[in-house]
Amino acid sequence: QWSRVRARLQDEIGEVEYRNWLRQAALHGLDGDEITVMLPTRFLRDWVNKEYGGLLTSLWQSENPAVRRVDIRTRPAGGITAVPNLAEPSAVLAKSTQPARRDAEDRSETAAPLDPRFTFDTFVVGKPNEFAYACARRVADGHASPGFNPLFLYGGVGLGKTHLMHAIAWELSQRADEVTVAYMSAEKFMHRFVSALRRQSTIEFKNELRSVDVLMVDDLQFLIGKDGTQEEFFHTFNALVDSGKQIIVSADKSPSDLSGIEDRLRTRLGCGMVADVHATTYELRLAILEAKAARAGVPVPGRVMEFLAQKITANVRELEGALNRLIAHAHLFDRPVTLEAANEVLHDLLRAYDRKITIEEIQKQVAEHYNIRISEMSSVRRARNIARPRQVAMYLAKQLTSRSLPEIGRKFGNRDHTTVMHAVAKVTELMAADTDFAQDVDLLKRILTV
Ligand code: ADP
Ligand code: MG
Repeated sequence: QWSRVRARLQDEIGEVEYRNWLRQAALHGLDGDEITVMLPTRFLRDWVNKEYGGLLTSLWQSENPAVRRVDIRTRPAGGITAVPNLAEPSAVLAKSTQPARRDAEDRSETAAPLDPRFTFDTFVVGKPNEFAYACARRVADGHASPGFNPLFLYGGVGLGKTHLMHAIAWELSQRADEVTVAYMSAEKFMHRFVSALRRQSTIEFKNELRSVDVLMVDDLQFLIGKDGTQEEFFHTFNALVDSGKQIIVSADKSPSDLSGIEDRLRTRLGCGMVADVHATTYELRLAILEAKAARAGVPVPGRVMEFLAQKITANVRELEGALNRLIAHAHLFDRPVTLEAANEVLHDLLRAYDRKITIEEIQKQVAEHYNIRISEMSSVRRARNIARPRQVAMYLAKQLTSRSLPEIGRKFGNRDHTTVMHAVAKVTELMAADTDFAQDVDLLKRILTV
């Protein structure tokens, strides 16, 4: 399996990047639903985690659906230590008085649940996010009125929602009085709930959640269509709010637009403070680049930053990724960051922007081509004459845009990233087996890229 994952990884990111970053990755352990991958240095570990962690997990999951987590660690000097107990780390993540734990070191190294980079200090405030930032500050100060409960942050991917939530958690955990903060993704909430059901320990699960002072649930849109988990969350929510505990939730849409989330839950989510994180502006992007470059301690010429701020507009994550790639490249080859280097290193990304193909465009073109309604791209129908074009559209979205698998899935009626991965594999397979089909797909690709 590992060799297949490696091969696909190499396909996915290209040989050069693979050689630079992942050649030394070694499979260390496979324990039920968790995979451990080792890298020789902290720098490599952090880099791989950040840049390729998600991809690695997806690839593993497509090889082995039982895998839930890929843990990336540094190889301990002087031999290999046993893989520690891989039980689900506790959801309670930050406590002002940290209890001494035997595995605390290990925990903070690998499963550090709060990203140390995501603080208020490192968050750059501009017009698009100033309201959300102000709300987050208020809640973090602990002086927020009940009008701030729940705090609901929403906006597109990569615009800083998770960053703000972590910043609140850091701030609260540094306060003198003991505040228990639990941060988790909605996905994690569901996995924990489901595994509590399986182990018949839902009472413990409920008690644990209800004992926190602040509960943060990130990316609530994950619960769309997951009715049982929504119901459990609804009860947790009520229990906490009723006892005056703070709830913070993020999602990609406002409560009223979250179709697929039960009405009563949406209503309650909209009852507190709802803050929109807007798409970035040129000025904010430039300010973010300046802050990050300064933090990295690498001189990046103003022209390069202006160029990036102008070109890379989708979201902050992508912008940051581009700057990181430039900086890593400069380190690796011991060369200064220049406009030429930017054009060269970011060639793929920039090309995607120049073409600016959107998933919507792909869906429209493919639907037209196969003579189906565009709404079928998001429908649940599985008839071959509908499902196949939908798979083709997913395949083209992966090929022609820089969107990630989960993002693509979301645009196709909130499907899972594994569905997208399956579609890509299926279309690839069919194209190899059936030349007519391959020509068809190539034609679509050409129409879309002219
Ligand atoms: P979201 O949760 O909205 O998808 P994240 O919070 O994960 O987005 O942000 C994506 C990346 O962009 C993170 O690395 C985050 O630190 C960075 N980022 C987003 N907004 C800002 C900002 N205003 N200032 C600094 N970094 C930001
Ligand atoms: Mg997020």
